[in-house]
Amino acid sequence: MSQIYDRVALIGLGLIASSMFWAIKRAGLAGEVTGYARSEATRDTARRIGLCDRVCDTAQEAVEGADLVVLCVPVGAMGAVAEEIAPVLKSGATVSDVGSVKRNVIDAVQPHIPETVHFIPAHPLAGTEHSGPESGFAELFDNRWCLLVPVENSDPEAIARLRALWEGMGSNVDEMDADHHDLVLAVTSHAPHLIAYTMVGVADDLRRVTDSEVIKYSAAGFRDFTRIAASDPTMWRDVFLSNKDATLEILGRFTEELFALQRAIRTGDGEHLFDYFTRTRAIRRGIIDAGQDTDAPDFGRGKSST
Ligand code: NAP
Repeated sequence: MSQIYDRVALIGLGLIASSMFWAIKRAGLAGEVTGYARSEATRDTARRIGLCDRVCDTAQEAVEGADLVVLCVPVGAMGAVAEEIAPVLKSGATVSDVGSVKRNVIDAVQPHIPETVHFIPAHPLAGTEHSGPESGFAELFDNRWCLLVPVENSDPEAIARLRALWEGMGSNVDEMDADHHDLVLAVTSHAPHLIAYTMVGVADDLRRVTDSEVIKYSAAGFRDFTRIAASDPTMWRDVFLSNKDATLEILGRFTEELFALQRAIRTGDGEHLFDYFTRTRAIRRGIIDAGQDTDAPDFGRGKSST
């Protein structure tokens, strides 16, 4: 793979930015990668582990001269960061982001982007429940989708270049408009996270089941909720506050379906339950056939971990 940008600046040095750095290095996609994080502790860690070719003490310093700037901070912080770096952005550069919500980020960032700079929002559909500069790894984006969400009049050449970067980092790339993105992600990611948070909260509240039982027998399904519910609280607070409409729409539908299932259980309507579970099983098969998860029992964890 050949070099796509001379200089890339990563603003925010958590899971996504650190994974981007290692993936960029793996394929030699940039001449130099600069980085900035708001806390000194994160900048120190980055320097210690060799995360970024150059770690800067200010966002402006990191951005100066960069051909691509990627905002890798929580969704609620994107607007303020864009405002801070706007005066030093190089003419002809591209600003992108990795935020999990797109409409809200576009509304917060776009007003600060100078006319001579391209703005191409993006969202890699890849992550783990870990966060921080030491949580990243080069393979995170391999065979995962990255959605580009170009704004009106985005330059096709700048889009093609950003697409090449994500493909070079191992992703499959699609384009989508912002509102559709937010609805799709409400279904596939945001609502499931809220449900996981709720289920773990319920188990915590239910004192009839002791803590040790919850932990001991968690392989029966609860464990997968706990993994999701361990995700970063700041990131997820921001996701729900900024994808309010789509998430509430999906949760409304979820509640209706839950009531229907609740009724089927109460009235002994086994046919309803069986048909419902047959339909949902086919969705799991579709995900495996699309190469987005393993077919191995229990996600390939093996006997020792259950
Ligand atoms: P992370 O590991 O928690 O890292 C966040 C980074 O942003 C840290 O360097 C943090 O700096 C910095 N930061 C936090 N609040 C800030 C503020 N108010 N102003 C300036 N910088 C701030 O987060 P992440 O998982 O990489 O997520 C980053 C972005 O990627 C988010 O927008 C998220 O929606 C998106 N995303 C996440 C995932 C996922 O699964 N994690 C997947 C796809 C997209 P300090 O360390 O100095 O506090």
